[in-house]
Amino acid sequence: MSSMNALYIVATPIGNLDDITQRALATLQKADIIAAEDTRHSAKLTQHFGITTPLIAYHDHSNESQTLRLLDRLSKGESIALISDAGTPLISDPGYRLVKLAREKGIAVVPIPGACALVAALSAAGLPSDRFSFEGFLPAKNVGRNTRLEALATDTRTLVFYESPHRIVESLQAMAQVFGCDRQVVLAREITKAYETFLSATFSELQGMMAADANQLRGEMVVMVQGYVAPEQNDEALEPEVQHTMQVLMAELPVKQAAALASKLTGIKKNKLYKWALGKKAE
Ligand code: SAM
Repeated sequence: MSSMNALYIVATPIGNLDDITQRALATLQKADIIAAEDTRHSAKLTQHFGITTPLIAYHDHSNESQTLRLLDRLSKGESIALISDAGTPLISDPGYRLVKLAREKGIAVVPIPGACALVAALSAAGLPSDRFSFEGFLPAKNVGRNTRLEALATDTRTLVFYESPHRIVESLQAMAQVFGCDRQVVLAREITKAYETFLSATFSELQGMMAADANQLRGEMVVMVQGYVAPEQNDEALEPEVQHTMQVLMAELPVKQAAALASKLTGIKKNKLYKWALGKKAE
């Protein structure tokens, strides 16, 4: 490659091939090699665009010697374009080790941006996008998944998950349990493809829609969950001693009684204490 020698991180389409960028095509064509997650899969893409650059396999589990060979080629002045099966490499896809080591060796690493399911999904979901947390894939096992979800239960940012069709039903069930059936969720499916669908509903409504139409369980999907919204923000926070009194009482009594008793003890309005207690319980 005549211009700058570098490791190029090239985004490829997530469905619609027209989403490839001019710069991606030029980079793939000019690179000395294309390192791909699955060479057979990526050969279809390169053939489609008439790109003749040789493909070699690379994934994060690749043995050390393969990573070192790529770094060696880069050090000798070759350029490598890293791609994944779809979308942006390193976003729930291989490449982290290679990028980290290349940077450590002072090799230029250049992003060639393009399609990414997370960004495409969030941009069209209609959920707050000023602050969000990308959570990638949830752990496959129940315990791990629930631990992760519980840690996110009161996160106020929009939560974005990747999910596979064979786990979507149990994942939505677990989310509904931890986040509450009334939390707003958007399921973005088959983005940029023929059956692109965005379903926006509460968890209980979404589960109903999916049970009624098996097609909604097919294809690639991104799940986006509205962040936690406190039931009703207290106008002013309670004094720490009052909070402590409430916590002690709430450990022994139902919320209503705890609020009534604390009101007698502190002189603070029962209603204010009750609202505070509900907020606490929802945390
Ligand atoms: N690196 C990719 C990117 O930039 O989005 C993501 C790779 S990850 C292994 C694959 C997951 O991305 C799928 O299981 C799905 O959750 C999501 N995904 C990829 N393409 C999608 C599409 N067209 N529509 C919806 N979700 C998609």
